[in-house]
Amino acid sequence: MFDKVLIANRGEIALRIHRACREMGIKTVAVHSTADAAAMHVRLADESVCVGPPAARDSYLNKAAILTAAMVTGADAIHPGYGFLSENADFAEMVEDHDLAFIGPSPEHIRMMGDKVRAKQAARESGLPCVPGSDGAVESEAEAEKVAAEMGYPVLIKASAGGGGRGMKVATSREDLGEAFRTARAEAAAAFGNPEVYIEKYLTRPRHIEIQVLADNHGNVVHLGERDCSLQRKHQKVLEEAPSPALNATQRAEIGEVVRAAMSRIGYRNAGTIEFLFEDGKFYFIEMNTRLQVEHPVTEMITGIDLVREQIRIAAGAPLDVTQDNLRIMGHAIECRINAEDPRTFVPSPGRIAGFHTPGGLGVRVDSGLYDGAIIPPHYDSMIAKLIVHGRTRNECLMRLRRALGEFVVEGVKTTIPLHEQLIANPDFVNGDYDIRWLEGFVDTLC
Ligand code: ADP
Repeated sequence: MFDKVLIANRGEIALRIHRACREMGIKTVAVHSTADAAAMHVRLADESVCVGPPAARDSYLNKAAILTAAMVTGADAIHPGYGFLSENADFAEMVEDHDLAFIGPSPEHIRMMGDKVRAKQAARESGLPCVPGSDGAVESEAEAEKVAAEMGYPVLIKASAGGGGRGMKVATSREDLGEAFRTARAEAAAAFGNPEVYIEKYLTRPRHIEIQVLADNHGNVVHLGERDCSLQRKHQKVLEEAPSPALNATQRAEIGEVVRAAMSRIGYRNAGTIEFLFEDGKFYFIEMNTRLQVEHPVTEMITGIDLVREQIRIAAGAPLDVTQDNLRIMGHAIECRINAEDPRTFVPSPGRIAGFHTPGGLGVRVDSGLYDGAIIPPHYDSMIAKLIVHGRTRNECLMRLRRALGEFVVEGVKTTIPLHEQLIANPDFVNGDYDIRWLEGFVDTLC
């Protein structure tokens, strides 16, 4: 097992990774920007290294500085968390070239899944059901028109290098296809330095359902069921739950097995998530995330498996200590992402925390690096805490979540706690009756 792990991240996820290491008897090295010198993960880590000024590109994205910090402190592995360098194949390669372990998949798999055209091809070849669409990149407007005409409108034009919903444009008819094609290419070029786009059938009211997998270096692959992440605003997930209210046990076992077999076929290793749209009882692959995800705790709550601990064990060469047969899904879990934002306008609200009290009690978990007096810097993502609640049934989970949100106190900055309180009181949500467009409509009714 590793002796010392460097955590190449900040905020709640840096703390999350530190906690897993500490339980495993592994020493931790925190890296931080000058803006995060007093952060909780820095305080708790065994050692810390300042890697640069506040701007992420100069600190948390500074590959050379992070690698140097690992060498200087004698760390033997790097955990990238999510965001920042977590899906940067070049970084993973650099880490391995320096004889350090990258706690994640191989650079080849990161690269494959980071290019959406290649990812879809690999998905199709390995037996995953895909959204109907172009066979690879679409180079010209004429080609786009041909593909769209065959498939039927509406269609979605997506960037090959896409992420965060950028470079995506819907065309509802031939008349708006030209402009959608050109705008998507321009956006993709500006955001990712690569104008390549491809086309998919646009699904009108699907759910977003994703499957968590774990795979070791010994050929063992397990799936840990699904998460329903349909509640999104501007392609950002707001609340996630597991199991999905839309799936039954047979559907879960079937898609789980398809995913398990596909991961086995491509030789994937470590943790990963395969994202699908789900409409009229059918799954359509959209992308794979080759890293730990923000919403991983809901899976942990219903399986009892510490996903970060498993990631570390896998990277150290240990076999999975769970098999598909002994994995049980117990009860229901919901995660609310709490952002330092105005709950109506979503304008970020950085600043100093003047009062902080987290809820507790049976089945309640808070992942957050905040404390009384902490400063939320304006330079990073506005997610400041995750409240994760578990219950034996969805209804018990909902009652507990309502109670826990009511106990949560964050003073000094605005947060999205009131949004979550209203959301979980809505009858559609209570009935599990929502899709990926639902939340935008709900938010509009609040303004
Ligand atoms: P990104 O990597 O930019 O997040 P994704 O492929 O994961 O791109 O898609 C992001 C979101 O866009 C999905 O969660 C879904 O809401 C929407 N989306 C993607 N593909 C389609 C599609 N074919 N039809 C309808 N909505 C889609």
